[in-house]
Amino acid sequence: MPSPDTAASGQTAPSHEDRDPIGFRFDNTYARLPERFYARLNPTAVAAPRLIRVNADLSRRLGLDPDALASTTGVEVLAGNRIAAGAEPLALAYAGHQFGHFVPQLGDGRTNLLGEVIAPDGARYDIQLKGSGPTPFSRRGDGRAALGPVLREYLVSEAMAALGVPTTRALAAVTTGEYVLREAELPGAILTRVAASHLRVGTFQYFAAQGDTEAIRTLADYAIARHYPEAAQAPQPYRALLDGVIARQASLIAQWMLLGFVHGVMNTDNSAISGETIDYGPCAFMEAYDPAMVFSSIDRQGRYSYSNQPHAAHWNLARLAESLLPVMAQEAGSEEAALAAAYEALAAFSTQFETARTAGLRRKLGLATEHPGDAELAHTLLGRMAANRADFTLTFRRLCDAAATPEADREVRTLFTDPAAYDSWATEWRQRLQQEPVSAQQRSAAMRMANPLFIPRNHRVEEALEAAEEQQDFQPFEQLLDVVTHPYEDRPNLERYATPARPEQRVVQTFCGT
Ligand code: AMP
Ligand code: MG
Repeated sequence: MPSPDTAASGQTAPSHEDRDPIGFRFDNTYARLPERFYARLNPTAVAAPRLIRVNADLSRRLGLDPDALASTTGVEVLAGNRIAAGAEPLALAYAGHQFGHFVPQLGDGRTNLLGEVIAPDGARYDIQLKGSGPTPFSRRGDGRAALGPVLREYLVSEAMAALGVPTTRALAAVTTGEYVLREAELPGAILTRVAASHLRVGTFQYFAAQGDTEAIRTLADYAIARHYPEAAQAPQPYRALLDGVIARQASLIAQWMLLGFVHGVMNTDNSAISGETIDYGPCAFMEAYDPAMVFSSIDRQGRYSYSNQPHAAHWNLARLAESLLPVMAQEAGSEEAALAAAYEALAAFSTQFETARTAGLRRKLGLATEHPGDAELAHTLLGRMAANRADFTLTFRRLCDAAATPEADREVRTLFTDPAAYDSWATEWRQRLQQEPVSAQQRSAAMRMANPLFIPRNHRVEEALEAAEEQQDFQPFEQLLDVVTHPYEDRPNLERYATPARPEQRVVQTFCGT
């Protein structure tokens, strides 16, 4: 058992376990990387941890016993009051461009990576506590998280997982029995986050900014081994790593776009090398389709608006490419060759993104075959949805029925301020559907798997967060979680979760809450 130093000021030393009662079998590779990659540091114990919930399905997938996690000992581990055997808590170093401005040192200011576990399926996952106390990277922050944002991340990340989008996961949430000072005093909480890794574009930038080519190589080799093992066999492994990250990001952003998801803070430090969605802050799903939609209170320029997301991702990937140039130059033989390779890699993003988006739009429209006019057909619909404030999720969901029978058009057209805008499009769509070989029933069923009925609608999220914050009532959170983690299932009596906010219920702005 290594002994992490507890040098951070004012730390309460958590108790240590020799034998892990939870069943974590840690195998920590990041902690074996050079010391300048992180700070070794335990979480800071909290006053009175209480369990909100354990994600039982995910625990089992990780080979952990959910009952043990929910036990008194388990909750102490989830709160950072006890260090599980084999954990080697770290705060990771990284940099990042925040809204375009480079910050050479950000790092984990309020999280501790406990370690890595290997799931029964062989996959390696990071187990991280978020809100677990100050670290050397905290700057002016308190190292803590408020209950509301913890529940938001829990809900939205689990919804994304259920929607089939690569994402970090929520293993558990606890309240701390302490208050955190934000715009007001708010109850504190800690999220246990599970991720394929916490490598970020900003992690590469951290070393690039220091001119530390050796660290870039070490990090790139680590990323290849962990996420892109096939790149190791490529003639130019670092170029292959860049290609791999670009491909996964292109596919990820396409999936966000196909669901009406707005991440809100696509800074390079919130851009994962694994291709997972990470760092859920002021994120939200839109209701009425509006390409310019921005929810985040801090995104005043609309840098990370819905339709800017592919550009933002491309920009972030360009920062990754820049950071990799020194090691790419070594393998390519010259700086010029590396630069050419980087441009070539980046140029592929748009095509990959558009291809993924068009394929997704085809699935959403029930088109199993490919025809040249498909993208245009889809974009015509989107244009009319935007002009007519049609609810993004419901429009596509109701098209599943309309694909089987024109009688169901009634339910779609009412979503458009001018229903005729839908009618004329539907005529074109039906002509196109005639070229499809599958039966109407098969088509409808396939469409139901591409068009969710339930997304975490903002007003329902706010309602759940408020009940938890103000009345310690977690029932609305539990109910909403149950609904959004079964997004494609038509279940009775859940209309309130499927319908858009009425004007007076609308939540148009979300806050980082950090
Ligand atoms: P985020 O906006 O959550 O991606 O965080 C950006 C940076 O601010 C990261 O370096 C975080 O670790 C840090 N940070 C956010 N909230 C806090 C906090 N309450 N205390 C300390 N650091 C924080
Ligand atoms: Mg972040």
